[in-house]
Amino acid sequence: MNKTDPKPGTRPKIISRSEHIISRANVSHSALKVLYRLKNSGFAAFLVGGGVRDLLLEMHPKDFDIVTDAHPEQVRKLFSNCRLIGRRFRLAHVRFGGEIIEVATFRANIDGGDDRARSDKGRILRDNVYGTIDEDIWRRDFTVNALYYNIADFSVRDYTSGLEDINSRTLRLIGDPRTRYREDPVRMLRVVRFAAKLDFDLAPETAEPIAELGDHVRDVPPARLFDEVLKLFQTGHAVRSFELLVDYGLLRHLFPATNALLEGPDGASVRRFIELGLAGTDQRIEEDKPTTPAFLYAILLWPAVRRLAESLTASGSREYEAMAEASGRIAAEQQVRTALPKRFSVPMKEMFALQRRFGIRRGARAAKIMDHRQFRAAYDFMLLRSRCGEVEAELADWWADMQQRSPAEQEQAFSLDKRRSGKRRRGGRRAGAPKPLSADASGS
Ligand code: ATP
Ligand code: MG
Repeated sequence: MNKTDPKPGTRPKIISRSEHIISRANVSHSALKVLYRLKNSGFAAFLVGGGVRDLLLEMHPKDFDIVTDAHPEQVRKLFSNCRLIGRRFRLAHVRFGGEIIEVATFRANIDGGDDRARSDKGRILRDNVYGTIDEDIWRRDFTVNALYYNIADFSVRDYTSGLEDINSRTLRLIGDPRTRYREDPVRMLRVVRFAAKLDFDLAPETAEPIAELGDHVRDVPPARLFDEVLKLFQTGHAVRSFELLVDYGLLRHLFPATNALLEGPDGASVRRFIELGLAGTDQRIEEDKPTTPAFLYAILLWPAVRRLAESLTASGSREYEAMAEASGRIAAEQQVRTALPKRFSVPMKEMFALQRRFGIRRGARAAKIMDHRQFRAAYDFMLLRSRCGEVEAELADWWADMQQRSPAEQEQAFSLDKRRSGKRRRGGRRAGAPKPLSADASGS
């Protein structure tokens, strides 16, 4: 028997307040209010999950999750600012200004004997059975996520040696890894995400089944995978998440077209492009700047779009038609995997379409792209391409310079360039035209 196998009646290790570092000073006021009100109304109330884990690691938790033995309706009666959400499993959301505290009721892991609750591959379809704290624990994913901070006496309950795993920086699935991954294949993505975010290692038995079971990720609804993709890539550790997804063979199930290129002859340059792009995303998060899934998907899908557009052009399509066709096809293929809502796919495609237009520096049409709502994103994307040798630095500088100028100067520059490029055109390739794929750093 595995040391994390569910053992009904297991007594937790209780780590008293003097033996751990969690201080209420580091818990949000809103979370404390919820915990205290539950407790004062006679319910059990615990902080659990990432909040406890991150506090033990002296990190700032992103959010605080609370569990209680109060049922959702009872929670709602205690808080006027409370909404019940979720159809399959009801959760209470208590709102304090912009902060939402999620309150869940203890749940039991469904019993493997109930076939109706699982798909034929073992995926859990229903897990809506209320339970007690000693049942709740076994349905959590990793030991480090299954530590319960008790508001009644400020102690931490540890049923699965989670604290030891925190100290040795180890991610270990609770229970039998194969069963737990089959129940919910998203756990394979979560383990990668936590390894990237926390800089933890995977326990060998937690790592080992991923190669074999990775394709179960394809059975997860695309909308849920979209959420998971954003957590992997838009929370400040995108580069590391990407590396780990590649290493564990999971990227192929999320971004198949991109993964195929990584395994092809241009693999090194594709990887460099994506990692530079993702490093930029990580940096923006570090600097508290906004990020959008449109730009993220642009980074991840561009290598495939670009190659498809090039091959369509080679077989006779006009450049702009080829780009529209390629971005449409690749986005459509991607949507069935990880979803990509229209409000992001449309701006992504616009960014792609604008890339070609940066090569045109003359006339009213050239000037107009500066008014395009995707101009700034498309420009940032062009800079990324230029850093990878896809666009001449001179062209990138020209557009940087243009943005510094007054409208009158811009107008002059666009028409001056008209004359200049008119002259050059007779000479050969336009000065600003993007280099063709064959001339890029990939050396293909
Ligand atoms: P963070 O919020 O920092 O991303 P977290 O561990 O709090 O990390 P959440 O997605 O907020 O992650 O989930 C809260 C807790 O719920 C987890 O710590 C874990 O105990 C449990 N949990 C979440 N998703 C799963 C899952 N797919 N399988 C099992 N338990 C899960
Ligand atoms: Mg959380």
